[in-house]
Amino acid sequence: MFKAFFGGIHPDDGKKYTQKKVVEDMPLVGRYCVPLKQHIGEACVPMVSKGAVVKKGQCMANGDKNRSVPIHAPVSGVIADICSCRDPVTGMSKSIIIDSDGKDEWLEGRLIFRDNNDLDAASIIDIIRECGVVGMGGAAFPTHKKLLPPANKPVDLLVVNGAECEPYLTSDYRVMLECPEDVVSGCLIAMKAVYAKYCRIGIEDNKKDAIALMQKYAAGYKNITIVPLPSVYPQGGEKMLVKAISNREVSSGKLPMDVGCVVLNVSTMKAIADAVEKNIPLIERIVTVSGSSITCPKNIRARIGTGFNDAIAFCGGLKRPASTIIMGGPMMGIAQTDTGVPIVKACSGILAFSEQDAGSAVDRPCIRCGRCMDACPMRLRPNMLSMLSERNKYKTALLEYDLLDCIECGCCAYVCPAKRNIVQHVRKAKAQNTMNKKRKKLEINEQRG
Ligand code: SF4
Ligand code: SF4
Repeated sequence: MFKAFFGGIHPDDGKKYTQKKVVEDMPLVGRYCVPLKQHIGEACVPMVSKGAVVKKGQCMANGDKNRSVPIHAPVSGVIADICSCRDPVTGMSKSIIIDSDGKDEWLEGRLIFRDNNDLDAASIIDIIRECGVVGMGGAAFPTHKKLLPPANKPVDLLVVNGAECEPYLTSDYRVMLECPEDVVSGCLIAMKAVYAKYCRIGIEDNKKDAIALMQKYAAGYKNITIVPLPSVYPQGGEKMLVKAISNREVSSGKLPMDVGCVVLNVSTMKAIADAVEKNIPLIERIVTVSGSSITCPKNIRARIGTGFNDAIAFCGGLKRPASTIIMGGPMMGIAQTDTGVPIVKACSGILAFSEQDAGSAVDRPCIRCGRCMDACPMRLRPNMLSMLSERNKYKTALLEYDLLDCIECGCCAYVCPAKRNIVQHVRKAKAQNTMNKKRKKLEINEQRG
């Protein structure tokens, strides 16, 4: 099985800086800043107060079961404060600050070994939620929600994303090389939870050693297949992956579950295995720290709440000033104004580029060359979307040009000779439409009294 999708690009993948670097454990730092909202959904409510003593793995905040996942202490220590802090996703959010006591003591009951054969699907899903597992590819969608599709949308295929098509990032790759057994365990557990008959792990063919290793570890399981995929960006996009792996088409406005699939990332598989087999909550993750400004690019295992500053210092600091700092990959990551933000569950990478290497969108007028349309994997018209957004014609973009189908992959901006900031225009149009919808709803409610 070796299928491609329409469009896509082949950017310099920049993976050579870290792909051969074995994951290094980051030593404990003095202070951790843990945001209360690290998932798509509602922020959690603190269950601890200033001055409280916490153990590693202790639940510190929780919320509605359907709309959030709990947040756990990444270290043992004392709650120094609960206040509004900068975070890399929303900009600013309520966070719990912990001063480490340096002992790193687990809460009793964590790190126990549990046989998942004794668990039914409902118990597995409860454990995954209780351990705060979210999608670790960047979206941070609560994993237990993905594993609970509506009854009228049965899932037969678990699609596991090992493509890691974003340039520079090698954290998923290292998970496959260093923890293949956990990835396979996570797949078996997730299949059981969602009643899937099959699992296919898609890996780009530029990771031949990961393909071979995963094939070796999955060899004993007839229902798990490793699928080599062409190395083309954005191969790891949900719709592209489902098409490449199963030849099922997720049409406009639909989700993978509409074609019987659930898509999860390989790092999420490891988090599932840790949660279910060892009762370990999601308190740390592998992060690629790279880019032209980083002195010694690495893959690091860092606790959630570790400052970008501390992570960069562990990688030798900045060898030249960074004009661009990104959480995640250069194509779909989130630009940061500086390094004073913490690592969160969705943070697969910290990239820092000097001005010379960063490249910049200058937003010149469109010359109608059409290259963006050839590159768009969703077969959209990015030139029209960006122009309509510039002219504040958000509704036209929504209704006539399928604005919401844009996955913000950035292929269009990458190929644009006018260096138009197409993704920013698309995001603005989406945000304006959402705002207009909310405003309209409010007006209707007011009229109804
Ligand atoms: S960012 Fe949106 S419009 Fe641009 S190529 Fe990707 S899907 Fe198409
Ligand atoms: S690639 Fe850029 S210049 Fe060419 S049509 Fe698209 S938006 Fe216009």
